[in-house]
Amino acid sequence: MTERLVVVGGDAAGMSAAAQARRLREAGDLEIVVLEQGHDVSFSACGIPYWVGDQVPDRDELIARTPAEFAARQIQVRTGTRAVEVDLAAGVVVTAAGERLGYDRLVVATGGRPTRPPIPGLDAPGVYGVHRLDDGAAIRSAIDAGARRGLVLGGGYIGLEMAEALQARGLDVTVVLADPLPMQLLDADMGERVCTAMKAMGMTVHTDQAVREVLVDAAGRARGVRTDVDSYDADLVVLGLGMGPEARLAADAGLAIGPTGAIDVDRSQRCRDHPEVFAAGDCAQTFHRVTGEVAHVALGTHANKQGRVAGSVIGGRPARFAGVLGTALTKVGDLEIGRTGLCTTQAEQSGFAWRTDTIEGTTRAGYYPGAEQIAVKLVSEAGSGQLLGAQVVGGPGAGKRIDVLATAIWAGMTAEDLAGSDLSYAPPFSPTYDPVVVAARAVSRTEQG
Ligand SMILES: Cc1cc2nc3c(=O)[nH]c(=O)nc-3n(C[C@H](O)[C@H](O)[C@H](O)COP(=O)(O)OP(=O)(O)OC[C@H]3O[C@@H](n4cnc5c(N)ncnc54)[C@H](O)[C@@H]3O)c2cc1C
Repeated sequence: MTERLVVVGGDAAGMSAAAQARRLREAGDLEIVVLEQGHDVSFSACGIPYWVGDQVPDRDELIARTPAEFAARQIQVRTGTRAVEVDLAAGVVVTAAGERLGYDRLVVATGGRPTRPPIPGLDAPGVYGVHRLDDGAAIRSAIDAGARRGLVLGGGYIGLEMAEALQARGLDVTVVLADPLPMQLLDADMGERVCTAMKAMGMTVHTDQAVREVLVDAAGRARGVRTDVDSYDADLVVLGLGMGPEARLAADAGLAIGPTGAIDVDRSQRCRDHPEVFAAGDCAQTFHRVTGEVAHVALGTHANKQGRVAGSVIGGRPARFAGVLGTALTKVGDLEIGRTGLCTTQAEQSGFAWRTDTIEGTTRAGYYPGAEQIAVKLVSEAGSGQLLGAQVVGGPGAGKRIDVLATAIWAGMTAEDLAGSDLSYAPPFSPTYDPVVVAARAVSRTEQG
């Protein structure tokens, strides 16, 4: 008998689950129906800042696959279809149109929800979230209509990328954040470098200021914000205040929600009390590789992998999601910013006896054209030299070095292991000792006394 898999949410996690299940099970064995409330599936939210900034001229380039392409693979995608209820006892998903769709397996991949604090005026026209392609289109329209002053709320990676995008389009950019520095998952000394670079690019950065109100004109349109310190004018306001899990559908159905507010799943992405139901992506909780604690990290890289795990298990192939380190990479202007594992605040909270070592180096041999400054900071366990976390800030070529550090932490390496590892060297790519190795040596040298 043909089983039916219903997937709620048609982006990274949901479509990865559907595609992997289809690879492993024929259409005669498994019918796959994806319900997506929007009109796009498989789109790259990650690309929105680059589309707004005009580096990517065409919206359609942000769409990896269309419903028609999925249909050719016998995956039925129903766009414009919102799931409003899941009846776990009956094994039924109810759509906004009232259809009751039975399932044998269900994947909840409802994604994330942008943080929207209860600030007066936040819903005014002229205030833009950055979540879906329609948001990108709306911001582009506002720029095309003549917006000259862009104000970004929040200094996380989305805030930074949007600030750069607005500046690339010729707007005067102001960034307002409640925190003392941008990029809160960096230590302060590394965050300072980011803040300095933003100011050097000509952005105005106001830190330590909670926004109290979005100011509107007589027509009700946003014209700036008021913080607890001052007021700032703007023609458009962009929200980059972080992303929480969109888990309401699951919670209302009675699926367990974890302490992060995301759906609680086991390592096969299965909901513990309902093994026929899976959750993956930004709506699901996971665990941190270093601390073993539950974590919610809303990134596309995890959403794709978790969706694939769910699809594999549904397809009959055992699979487990291996956890996260919180590895992330972004840029503002020419400054590349990477982080992985624990920053010092997280190391402290998790009870580690930690130490830090920061080195300055260059991305290429100093004599080679294009050598840029790079700072590498390692967080390690005092005494053992076990690597716990790393941060990299520097010019072009710096950022991707975070992956070497993430791999070392993933593999449980000590600083000494990393210092002795066989990393490549050629002048166009690194100094003789790569900055990553120099940082590891700084730790192992002092640990060894
Ligand atoms: C501006 C920006 C830049 C980013 N850059 C990066 C990056 O550089 N690297 C990185 O790793 N990650 C990045 N991310 C994060 C990444 O985009 C997300 O982690 C990823 O999209 C999550 O995929 P998902 O499938 O879990 O959720 P989503 O992409 O949120 O998709 C969930 C889908 O479910 C649908 N849905 C929700 N509820 C229902 C319902 N009840 N019925 C039907 N459909 C429903 C939604 O419409 C949506 O299409 C970025 C995000 C943004 C916004």
